[in-house]
Amino acid sequence: MAIKIEQPIVGYEVAMPDEDESSKVTQIAPLLERDDVLVGNTYKIKTPLSEHALYITINDVITTEPDGKEHHRPFEIFINSKNMENFSWIVALTRVISAVFRKGGDVTFLAEELKAVFDPRGGYFKKGGKYMPSLVAEIGEVIEQHMISIGMIEGDLGSAELELKKHQVKERLGDEALTKAALCPKCSAKALVRLDNCDTCLECGHSKCG
Ligand SMILES: [Zn+2]
Repeated sequence: MAIKIEQPIVGYEVAMPDEDESSKVTQIAPLLERDDVLVGNTYKIKTPLSEHALYITINDVITTEPDGKEHHRPFEIFINSKNMENFSWIVALTRVISAVFRKGGDVTFLAEELKAVFDPRGGYFKKGGKYMPSLVAEIGEVIEQHMISIGMIEGDLGSAELELKKHQVKERLGDEALTKAALCPKCSAKALVRLDNCDTCLECGHSKCG
């Protein structure tokens, strides 16, 4: 049966057919006004494939789980550069990724899928020497780093994300945060700091949330 909607649509809810308590699927609450809920990070990447840097912005929606903890989930992604006319496929990619983000459920596979894309013309080396098999793979890596930083997945933060985290720790926990730091399970440095539900090592970047 079709229902005519007379009111402007200001939010929506994703209904999940699976009511299984054990499933880890996160339901997104009805969306509030964009300006009220979205917080984002912008990442700059410079590739030899284009003259200008690319700016990748990932905005999150913050949900409160039944346990009362706040969780970030990516909600939308934008990629900007000076010469976007050469990159209409990037615009298409960001729209598809944003649509998947908004559907809810597990979106961590996106980073894996993108990182596995090889450019038949050959990849390139990033600053610092890490090999990127394609620009798509580097976009996947940025998404993965973002997911680690908001606690969606476990992993090691890269240098840019680690700098950002150090800055947040200093700003919000003060200088004495490091004196109270715990031992890192990965590198054994006394640099494991808890912030936003996540333990992050400010020495090696290892991060685990929950
Ligand atoms: Zn460590």
